[in-house]
Amino acid sequence: MLNTVPEISPFMAGVKVYTTENCPYCRMVQAFLRKNDVEYELVDVGKDREAAREMIEISGQRGVPVTVFGDEVVVGFDPRKLRELFGTPPEETVHDVVIVGAGPAGLTAAVYCARKLMKTVVIAENIGGQAAWSWAIENYMGFSTISGEELVRKFEEQVRGFDVHLEIESVGEIRKEDDTILVKTASGIVYRSRTLILASGKEPRRLGLPDEDRLMGKGVSVCAICDAPLYRDKPVAVVGGGNAALQTAIEMTKFASSVALIARRSLRCDEVYLERAKEAGVQTFSHHEVTALHGDAGLTGITVRDRETGEETALGVEGLFLAIGLAPNTGFLRNLVALNERGEILIDENGHTNVPGIFAAGDATCVKAKQIIVAAGDGAKAALEAHEYFERFTGRPIEGRAVCV
Ligand SMILES: Cc1cc2nc3c(=O)[nH]c(=O)nc-3n(C[C@H](O)[C@H](O)[C@H](O)COP(=O)(O)OP(=O)(O)OC[C@H]3O[C@@H](n4cnc5c(N)ncnc54)[C@H](O)[C@@H]3O)c2cc1C
Repeated sequence: MLNTVPEISPFMAGVKVYTTENCPYCRMVQAFLRKNDVEYELVDVGKDREAAREMIEISGQRGVPVTVFGDEVVVGFDPRKLRELFGTPPEETVHDVVIVGAGPAGLTAAVYCARKLMKTVVIAENIGGQAAWSWAIENYMGFSTISGEELVRKFEEQVRGFDVHLEIESVGEIRKEDDTILVKTASGIVYRSRTLILASGKEPRRLGLPDEDRLMGKGVSVCAICDAPLYRDKPVAVVGGGNAALQTAIEMTKFASSVALIARRSLRCDEVYLERAKEAGVQTFSHHEVTALHGDAGLTGITVRDRETGEETALGVEGLFLAIGLAPNTGFLRNLVALNERGEILIDENGHTNVPGIFAAGDATCVKAKQIIVAAGDGAKAALEAHEYFERFTGRPIEGRAVCV
């Protein structure tokens, strides 16, 4: 498929994006390229085995997306690198609200802020956050079942119907100087604002094994929904014992030649998944942990240890999918707002942090339920509070704008 963009494109040809059908990060790369008027060729390595081999050879790994432009190979969705190659930095402007994160919390907050006619910018490393990684969502109202990808697409469409500036970037630093909040991105752009909504969610935990970084993308993956088709007919393992791990293991049986599930304790998931995993032929190793990863150019096997007997077993797998939980994405905040001992942002019942003008919502906060519907609801609450604060701060309704509740 050739995606053609207007004649103003400064890069006439030669950009190739290797993708799979359901990969949210691939969609982010495409959104970035389209936004910057870059013409690109899209190659679905889930369907084209020859192209998959080509991608692995060029990038030396098995994860999508891979963007190739001349000698440059960008693995994953790397906004900083893509901006270096293709992007033009936007002008520095003052906004009424900056929202960090475009998962369910940030996107919902954006709709609410835009409907209050606040000048809104959303800065996020990707659109959809964790919600995009879910194979099937069965507990978001209005849809008896919907894929994460599809739900996120609908969220994004809704946001794009409003006057919201959506910037795909990583936030590196935030400061408050008097009444102005300064949000600096990884590529050095500074956004100024009166109010801030933190909706940075969570990121996948790693095993912490010595060869994990080296084998990431070369057999080890944290995004099964992205990389599953690249493990067609290969033996794989999934690590984790919760709903996300079980869902991943079940889905992987549609691609892989065999699927082992390795959980440190007993499985702690909804009963419905236990039955489905059994029917799908998932081989379960409860009370086991992964102690070593093997392979040079790519993963060839793992060692697992029985935590009760200490007995070790070697498993020949070429893919290892991590679904071992998530940690809050709050490291970049440093001392900006108060956090709890788990690194979650402390908020009151209306989304206020301990710093005036700074609000938070979703999985990055201390709210117990980490669910799409809760994150979206809390995003709405934070936005309404930010709007109220903004009006109080300026001492008047937003100038020249309709004021209605
Ligand atoms: C595999 C899986 C399956 C799931 N299934 C379900 C389900 O079926 N039903 C359900 O209700 N919930 C499910 N969840 C949980 C649900 O996805 C989360 O509760 C929800 O996405 C949280 O939304 P959020 O907006 O708070 O954060 P996230 O979705 O984590 O989004 C965070 C956003 O912040 C951005 N971000 C983070 N740090 C930075 C930074 N420094 N700079 C810029 N941007 C940043 C990210 O790019 C992202 O856009 C699932 C989660 C997983 C992992």
